[in-house]
Formats: sequence, structure tokens, C-alpha cells
Amino acid sequence: MDTLRKIARSSAFWLGLVAVLAPLILLLGLQYRWLRRLGEAGDVLRQATLTNFVEAVSTEYEYYYRSRAERLLNVPAELFTEGRLQKMAGSWGSQELEGTRTLFVVDFTRAEFGNFLVYHPDEQRLVTPPSSDESLAIILACAPWQVRGAQRTVQGSGPLRVDEGDPANRIVLNPVANERGDLVGIAGFIVDEDFLRQRLLPKIVRKAFFAYFPQSNGESSDIGVLVTDRAGTPVLGSIGVVEASTVHRALPFLYTDWTLYLAQSVRAEEAWARTNFALNLALSLALALVLMGGLLFALRAARRAVRLSAMKSDFVSNVSHELRTPLASIRVYAELLRSGRVQGGEQVRHYGETIESESRRLSLLIENILDFSRIESGRKSYRLAPTQLESVVEAAVETFRRRPAARDFDVNYAGPDAALEPLLADAEALSRALGNLLDNALKYSGASREIDVTLRRTADEVCIAVRDRGIGIPREELARIFDRFHRVSKGLVHDVKGSGLGLAIVRHIAEAHGGRVGVESEPGAGSVFTLCLPLAGAGKETGAAGPRKEEHA
Ligand code: ADP
Repeated sequence: MDTLRKIARSSAFWLGLVAVLAPLILLLGLQYRWLRRLGEAGDVLRQATLTNFVEAVSTEYEYYYRSRAERLLNVPAELFTEGRLQKMAGSWGSQELEGTRTLFVVDFTRAEFGNFLVYHPDEQRLVTPPSSDESLAIILACAPWQVRGAQRTVQGSGPLRVDEGDPANRIVLNPVANERGDLVGIAGFIVDEDFLRQRLLPKIVRKAFFAYFPQSNGESSDIGVLVTDRAGTPVLGSIGVVEASTVHRALPFLYTDWTLYLAQSVRAEEAWARTNFALNLALSLALALVLMGGLLFALRAARRAVRLSAMKSDFVSNVSHELRTPLASIRVYAELLRSGRVQGGEQVRHYGETIESESRRLSLLIENILDFSRIESGRKSYRLAPTQLESVVEAAVETFRRRPAARDFDVNYAGPDAALEPLLADAEALSRALGNLLDNALKYSGASREIDVTLRRTADEVCIAVRDRGIGIPREELARIFDRFHRVSKGLVHDVKGSGLGLAIVRHIAEAHGGRVGVESEPGAGSVFTLCLPLAGAGKETGAAGPRKEEHA
């Protein structure tokens, strides 16, 4: 029955463990999948952000040049036809010319090959330019328009045009037509490349950084921007960027042979994802461990509570039995004596002895219960006085020998080699502790009839040892026999009744005297219980329960 209950209890434990572990493992699995998905979604999101970033830079860049060109190159046709082009110089003089290197007009209405003038910012007027690469680039860019205009194959002033025939002198053109649609001239500017490299591109990129990566403060160690020219030489940013996950596109409108790259360093990104993943997983695992710890703790507490309550009910039934049996014997023998049906003195002596022995058993039990209740409520106190230990032990052994139940036993006592100095101790408590040890030796002796008591002195202790050659105690029980209510539940001990309090009281007495109690035992060969008290400073602790250190030799 007991084993069955044990199995049921342990399977409940396993069931509980599985009930907690299964959802926990499921949760961890789901968490793992979510985290993976989150990582993947993060990749897509990052790629989209990079693309948007590149688009934003391109748009801003194109807008800058288009708006500038529209503002500066919007020359009315009349200025060409009426020969008032110098008026443009006044207009340009009052405007912001940033981004342009040279502004020019080509008048198709005057000379056969056009009247070509450039704006001189210092003089704020249009002048005939010296011959230079710049001038050549302008002429080459405008000549086709003049030819086409003369042949009237192309009419009207279309949108802005870009001529990048000479990469060092890139030109934005605005062909100007009169109201009849005839091309009358061209206004244009050569782009200031230094400004583009050093001011415009960095400014636009910084602005986009703020917009798309607000936490980056305008720059970032793992996000890189790179602009390369037609030869692939970096114009802005560093080359390291290209090896990472990258989005790129050609610059729109102007400098279309330049490429803009945006990249996020794969390593940084991966490291971030990995740390994030590991952190999340570690947190989940820690949570799982804490939960399991809590579960184990709760189960242990529950098992202890169940065990204690089982031990208490065993205790009640054992004590009732222990009380009933001697009382029944006492009553029977007392009735026999009273009825006068006793034959001879021998029988009277036997009845009297039995009554005495049974009432002694009752007293010991009741004293143990009272002591235990005082110990549990913290009311137990010890009266310490200088005590001659030999006489306490000798008296206890003598009383034990006189017990009728001990009559068949050989109770040997061996005292110390030399007389002991008096100890500060509670003689009555020590005598009760020894009584308990002797009572146990008698109860658990099985077929053996030999008990040895020794009193020995070592350098700093005196030890009382009680040896029996009885049933012994299994090794795994040794640690628990000093616990209250604990009784070995296997083997021969079943037949012997007891309260499970004796050894708990012996330990309390030992510890209250600053000493210890230990046991050595071999199942089938017997046990030795040793109660040791310190010589110096013995009995410093009185009253409340001392530390519950267990001592097993
Ligand atoms: P009990 O009233 O059951 O004897 P104790 O506290 O005195 O209670 O002892 C606790 C348990 O330790 C006993 O139930 C018994 O199983 C075991 N025990 C104590 N002394 C001995 C001994 N001398 N030999 C074998 N077993 C012992």
C-alpha cells in the first residue's frame, strides 16, 4: 500500500513536470520561430529602407539642379530678338548662383554661328569668352541646336537638356524659342563639380540620414554611402561599403554616369540580429528555468508537507497504541492482585514487576511527549549545574538494568580511565537522553541480548556511547532518524512500536549542552549511538533549541 502510494506520488510529480515542461518547450519553439521570422522581416524592412533612402537622395539631387536651372535659365525670347541680353546679366547678378560654374547665353538671332556670351560675375555683365575647354564644350553643346533651329527641324523650347559630352564641363541647357516657335537662342550653365562633390552631395546625404535613420545622428558606422564617378573612383564615402548588402542606382538628370550606393554592413547587421536573438532566447530559457525551479520547490514543499502529515498521523496511532498496551497490562495485573487469586510470593513479585515496568514505559513516553511539546514551543529550558557525569551514567545504567524488560540483557558499562572533572550540565536531561538511547538499544536488539555503555574522555570532549548488536539502521536512513516523528519504515522495526520522538529529544539535549549526537550502524550487525559533550564551555546554550547540525559518524 505504501509503495503504491509512493509510486502514485512520484508519478504525480512526473506528470506535473511534463505538464509544465511541455507548454514551456512549445513556447520556446514558438519563440524561436517568431524570432527567426522577425529577423527575416527585419531583412526585408532594412532593404526597403535602403532603397527609399537612395530614392530620396536621387530625388533631392535632381530637384536641386532642375529648380536651379528653371530659375536661372528662364530667359525671355524678346531679350534675344531685341538685343537686350545684357539685361540677363543684371538678373543673374542679383541671384544665388551656387552650383553653377559658368552661366552663358548663345544668341542665334545675330550671327550665322551664334553670338556666344558668358556671364562675368565680377563685372556683372556678359562678355565674349576667351577660347578654352569650357568655351569649346559650350559651342559643341549648342551647335547642334543652332543647326537644327536653322533647319527648323526642331521647334519650340523644350524642357531642360543636359549635355555631358565633355565630362569635365557638364552643361545644363535651356533652348529658348519665340512665340512662333523658332529657336532664338540658348541659356545654360556649366555645373560646378567641386560644389557638387564637396557641398551638395554630403548635404543631401546627411539630410536623408536624419530622415531615415533618426538615431544615427547624420552618420553611422554600419550604414555607408558611396558615390563613384564614371571610372568607379569614390567621390563621396568609402569603398568598404560595396561588400555589404547594398542598394545602388545611377544619379538622375546630371552626372548620370555616377553611381550612388547605400549599404549596411552585413557583419554589423548579423551581429545585431544574433545578439538580439541570443538575448531573447536566453531570457526565455532563464524564465523557463525559474519556472521549473519554482515548480520543483513547490513540489518539494508539498511532498514534505504530505510526509509530515503522514508522520504525524502515524505518531498519533503509535502513541495511542503505546499508551493502551501498558495501561491494559497494568489493569489486568492490578485486578489479579486485587482479586487475591495470586498463588505465592513469586507471582506477586512478577505482577508487581510488570506493573512497575509498564508504568515506567508510560512515564518515559509521557515525559518524551511533554519534552517534545516544550521544545517545539520554545519553552524547554535546562537547569545547568556542576555535574559528575560518571555518576549520572552509572545511575542511568543501574536503573535500566533493574527494568524487568532488561533482565535478560547483558548491560556492560565501562567508565573512563581517570576521574572526570565536573561538567556544567542538566543531569536530569542527560539521564533522560541516555534512557532514550538505552530504551532504543533494547527495543531494536532483535535476538541479541548485549548492550555496551562506555564513557570516554578525549582531549576536549566526553562521549557516552551506547552499543547494541541488534537490527541496525539502513545507511540511507541515518540522516533522518534524528528528525521528529521519523521512524524507519522497513524491515524488523515494523514490529516495534515507538513515537519517533526519542532521538529528536536526545539531539536537542546534546545541542543545548553545546554537544552533538552521532550514530554508526550496520544493518543486521547493530548500532552505536554516541553523545558527546564539550569539556570546556559545556552548557553555554540553554533554553531555546540550538543549531540543528546533524552529526553522523
Ligand atoms: P522510536 O520511538 O520510534 O524509537 P526514536 O526517535 O527513538 O523513535 O528513533 C527513531 C527511529 O530510529 C526508530 O524508529 C528506529 O527505526 C531507529 N532507531 C533508533 N535507535 C535504534 C537502534 N538502536 N537500532 C536500530 N534502529 C534504531
